[in-house]
Amino acid sequence: MADGRGQTTPQERIAGQIGHGPGAGDVWVFVEQRDGVAAEVSLELLGRARELADRLGVRVGAVLAGAGEAVRALAPALVARGADVVYLADHEDLAEYLALPYTRLVTGLVRRHGPQIVLYGATTTGRDLAPRVASNLRTGLTADCTDLRIGDLETKGVVTRDLLYQIRPAFGGNIIATIARPDHLPQMATVREGVMVMPEEDPDRSGEVVDVPVRRGAVAATDGPILLPESDFAVRVVRRVQEQKSVDLKGARIVVSGGVGVGSREGFALVEQLAETLGGVVGASRAAVDAGWIGHDHQVGQTGVTVRPKLYVACGISGSVQHRAGMDQSARILAINKDPDAPIFSVAHYGIVGDLHKVIPMLIKAYRTKGSAATGVGTSTGAAASPDAGAAPGAASAAEGGA
Ligand SMILES: Cc1cc2nc3c(=O)[nH]c(=O)nc-3n(C[C@H](O)[C@H](O)[C@H](O)COP(=O)(O)OP(=O)(O)OC[C@H]3O[C@@H](n4cnc5c(N)ncnc54)[C@H](O)[C@@H]3O)c2cc1C
Repeated sequence: MADGRGQTTPQERIAGQIGHGPGAGDVWVFVEQRDGVAAEVSLELLGRARELADRLGVRVGAVLAGAGEAVRALAPALVARGADVVYLADHEDLAEYLALPYTRLVTGLVRRHGPQIVLYGATTTGRDLAPRVASNLRTGLTADCTDLRIGDLETKGVVTRDLLYQIRPAFGGNIIATIARPDHLPQMATVREGVMVMPEEDPDRSGEVVDVPVRRGAVAATDGPILLPESDFAVRVVRRVQEQKSVDLKGARIVVSGGVGVGSREGFALVEQLAETLGGVVGASRAAVDAGWIGHDHQVGQTGVTVRPKLYVACGISGSVQHRAGMDQSARILAINKDPDAPIFSVAHYGIVGDLHKVIPMLIKAYRTKGSAATGVGTSTGAAASPDAGAAPGAASAAEGGA
């Protein structure tokens, strides 16, 4: 897109907008942690930040805040996942996430160092923190991105090179929008959990840990410690109550999901049986969740969990764009649907056209009698079609008659 007329890059404009300290132009990730354990989405973001930074020829910075040894001990793990520099704010006032002190910390660090990109997980914390930082810095924020890339943008004859393309579903998931902001820095985005691939840990990577001095106090300062005024502590964390998720969809190797085609809450027993037989967990479409047949923790898709299992079985799910957004990166997809034209078959590696109430019992029987070798489920070959059900690899094979 660059045509030679009035070209500029975010890096060239950083000095004028948000400072020019060490680290100007870097790509940053705000790392969420609890008890010294980083949120998975933060580690996923370090992997993508690494790719973006390599493309831009800059460093990856990780902002890590908390209190005590456990947080300090996390810094090398962030380097091993791709960070070049970890800005470590270790202070008792930062032991628990609180909106105002954390906003002040991140805003202060950005003003001092001038990164061109700052990424946050689209978690409760990220969704609370990122807009506050954006507002303080008078910059924009794209929420809930599903992809991030680097590209150029031409507006009114001026080409801005190397902008962050912030990619996310829009208009109810019916289009994928690419958002780029040439006018304000840093470019900021929250990113959905599970959409980026977790980077491998490389214990041989080296990086720098920069201690960020933090102090309670009201005196304004542009260098020295970052000051957290008393007024930032109007809220106090009294107790942390954590509800366990009823299912770990993200970590599952096999996910068997049911949709409207399952027909009822009772019908989900069949989906559960198949999941149990295959050693997987139960997922669902939003329509099945909205019908009250299964809890929201089980929802796969744009407003649910993004999964990448070795095998995803979609039972009675049409395959809306919002559902596919949460499962189409699965290694193998088996769809069971009575409509041969259902969109789910466009992403399925294997399809069975038939009534799931007949097909699922046949699959269970086949698996139980012939074992995983017969169905291929759970083996590395991944061929998941059941011979008894009359299905064959390839989308939309006919099994109606076979049932
Ligand atoms: C902003 C937004 C966000 C959304 N987020 C999500 C999300 O995160 N996840 C999600 O899933 N959806 C989401 N949706 C909803 C989505 O648009 C669809 O409405 C939903 O995915 C449909 O669910 P379904 O496939 O179970 O139902 P349907 O679309 O009604 O499909 C049911 C399927 O079952 C088949 N069938 C019926 N009976 C049988 C049978 N006996 N045997 C075999 N097959 C049978 C039918 O042929 C049909 O294909 C979202 C929508 C919006 C607007």
